[in-house]
Amino acid sequence: MKDIYKPSRAIASRTMNRRTPIYEGKAKQLFEGPEPGTLIQHFKDDATAFNNAKKGVINGKGVINNRISEYLMLKLGEIGIPTHFIRTLNMREQLVKAVEIIPLEVIVRNVAAGSFSQRFGLEEGSSLPYPIIEFCLKNDKLNDPIVAPEIVVAFQWAQPSELEDITALALRINDFLSGLLLGVGLRLIDFKIEFGRHYEGNTVQVILADEISPDCCRLWDTKTGEKMDKDRFRRDLGRVEEAYREVARRLGVLPNDTVEGQETKVKPAAKRSLVKLRAVKRKKK
Ligand code: C5P
Repeated sequence: MKDIYKPSRAIASRTMNRRTPIYEGKAKQLFEGPEPGTLIQHFKDDATAFNNAKKGVINGKGVINNRISEYLMLKLGEIGIPTHFIRTLNMREQLVKAVEIIPLEVIVRNVAAGSFSQRFGLEEGSSLPYPIIEFCLKNDKLNDPIVAPEIVVAFQWAQPSELEDITALALRINDFLSGLLLGVGLRLIDFKIEFGRHYEGNTVQVILADEISPDCCRLWDTKTGEKMDKDRFRRDLGRVEEAYREVARRLGVLPNDTVEGQETKVKPAAKRSLVKLRAVKRKKK
């Protein structure tokens, strides 16, 4: 019997041709978006650590990070943080605003861990007097070296006013996310974010880009101290997929029909809230 739902080869190839790849990173891929000034951000299951020295796959990570990043970017948007997020397209993809990436990894630290503990001989978990921001140059070949703000300005990677905006935004993001995550039993130890320039007409604004997920945050369980982030992969701690899923579950964004990395349908955010609303109305009746 002829399968009427199967697109002809001509149609399928035309559909595929429409996706122009723009950039492929370690955990994500960018394609040209459907409208000018937009991009499609695709989340992969691939995981790397130690600047690509360690490579692997975390099953279902792309799906989970897509949902977590959507949720956190939307929440940040609600408090007035400008972000690149437009809307989720499917399980692994979101539509985002095209930006000119500022070539800095902005790291915010609340507690000593990772490379900071190593550099200063501090035990992981030692508290810091206040949140500390570090800038690293986004350059794999040079191993993303830490750079002083003076160097950032001298080499024109960012203007002084942009660094001011980035610092203010990073601290607000840290305060907000620390509280939000504490509410679901997670301590935000540190995280990495990236910013971009968004051009609109005659204006340019620094906005939050990239992603926020357990790939780029350290999250420790408030009760047990258990690591619930990419350190489980970096340090071979096991139960990597479980940790990512648990973070998503606590935030209430676990795709309920994702089973052990298998992907099936997922309801878009708008539909999800409609379904919830209908359920509440039905209860009231
Ligand atoms: O390794 P380090 O302690 O410097 O990492 C600080 C934070 O930045 C961690 O949450 C880590 O996941 C994140 N990070 C990242 N990508 C990098 C470097 C660090 O997401 N290239």
